[in-house]
Amino acid sequence: MSISSINPVNGELIQEYPADTVNQLREKVELTHQSWLDYRKTSWQTRSAGLDRMAELLLERKQDLARLMALEMGKPLKDGVAEIEKCAAVCQYYAAQGEGFLKDETVETAAGKSYVTFQPIGVVLAIMPWNFPFWQLFRFLAPALMAGNAGLLKHASNVTGCALAISALVEDAGFPENIFNVLITSSKYIQEVIAHPLVKAVTLTGSTAAGMSVAEQSGKLLKKTVLELGGSDPYLVLADADIELAAKVCAEARLINNGQSCIAAKRFIVVKEVEEEFTTLFRSHMAAKKTGDPLLAGTDLGPMARADLRDELHGQVQECISQGAKCILGGNIPDFPGDHAFYEPTILSGIKPGMLVYKEEIFGPVAAIFTAIDTDDAVRIANDTNFGLGAAVFTRNAALAEDIARNQLQAGSCFVNTNVKSDPKLPFGGINQSGYGRELGLYGIREFVNIKTVFIQ
Ligand code: NAP
Repeated sequence: MSISSINPVNGELIQEYPADTVNQLREKVELTHQSWLDYRKTSWQTRSAGLDRMAELLLERKQDLARLMALEMGKPLKDGVAEIEKCAAVCQYYAAQGEGFLKDETVETAAGKSYVTFQPIGVVLAIMPWNFPFWQLFRFLAPALMAGNAGLLKHASNVTGCALAISALVEDAGFPENIFNVLITSSKYIQEVIAHPLVKAVTLTGSTAAGMSVAEQSGKLLKKTVLELGGSDPYLVLADADIELAAKVCAEARLINNGQSCIAAKRFIVVKEVEEEFTTLFRSHMAAKKTGDPLLAGTDLGPMARADLRDELHGQVQECISQGAKCILGGNIPDFPGDHAFYEPTILSGIKPGMLVYKEEIFGPVAAIFTAIDTDDAVRIANDTNFGLGAAVFTRNAALAEDIARNQLQAGSCFVNTNVKSDPKLPFGGINQSGYGRELGLYGIREFVNIKTVFIQ
């Protein structure tokens, strides 16, 4: 069996990779564990120096790595460069902060001495998606290496080149051989890896369906999981919002990574009295984006990552229209040469309960505008979802904004007058069907450690 990378600009084969056999998968797990047995004893200074070196290499290689992403999944070069810079930042962040986050904590008890110590747990399997092929992995890998763990990567099948480039970075940064290994395999064979006794935990970033499947397999074996899953982030535009700002930010937030981001803005819930003004401005910002070859400077939106995902998206748009949604921009497969995966930026309005887009995540450049009677109605619609990843609210009323963000919206992150984004310093994750556990910040590095109590009489 082999795994192929296909260029979504034209459908051409970039490279075919022979898949690992079951024996090779097993061997990689065992070699990674062997490497961890020594690595877990390394000092904070050694780990932190490795992460700093990896940050330097990321910055040195950012143009080449961005090009690889453009070829394998269609991300425009400037966005790819920004992604690699963010990976360097997360390495530097954990290099500087990791020791402080994981230092022993003394607790006064009846003991002569008692404390909590954060010990590495071993090999962690990371199952990752293609949408941010480097960032998704680095936000796991940087804290994992700092905490003294080892990693196995099962990347999405269409970005194997990116997976191997990450492996080269880890090696070139001076980390020990086999402390991080790439499994070249499809999700069909991952069950065996999860079940291997030397795999201690699993982190998955991907769809809710994949998360449920991995949680079930891991749960049966009592292996810890962190799940970063889908989202259908609501952006609330209230009657007193700065509408020009809201329209601009909402368009950027919907089209981030061509709409293929878990925290892209997906549902625009606009209070009736400003809906017309918002829609006009939002439409013009969406329409102004330039779609084209991701390798060319000036391209805002490349193709979607795969033609089958674009076809699925187009089917969802058509279904929404047949259910009564109004298409006020796009809605078509553009006329580009070759077997491409491009899709037009699209806006659907008049969304009602029962339409597909009301409940399901739309993973592409398609915005859905919902009408709310007032602020309370906007919050009610926002929370009428199975997801709970991010949310944003636009209003000039600072006290109301904070109350909505802090107390009313049900999501892992709530932002005011700006778009939802991840930051190495802040925890990131969801509730409900958006998953559980946190990455980044202090909370992220403590997910995969043994929080051990030591009590000395
Ligand atoms: P996906 O189809 O779930 O794939 C993600 C990864 O999971 C891939 O490596 C895939 O491998 C693997 N996988 C799929 N089904 C699996 C199963 N049953 N068991 C084990 N592994 C499985 O998701 P995607 O299409 O790549 O990404 C889009 C989804 O990810 C969206 O729902 C998005 O919202 C979500 N996402 C969430 C976050 C977050 O932080 N919360 C971030 C990014 C994306 P194969 O490629 O071999 O199938």
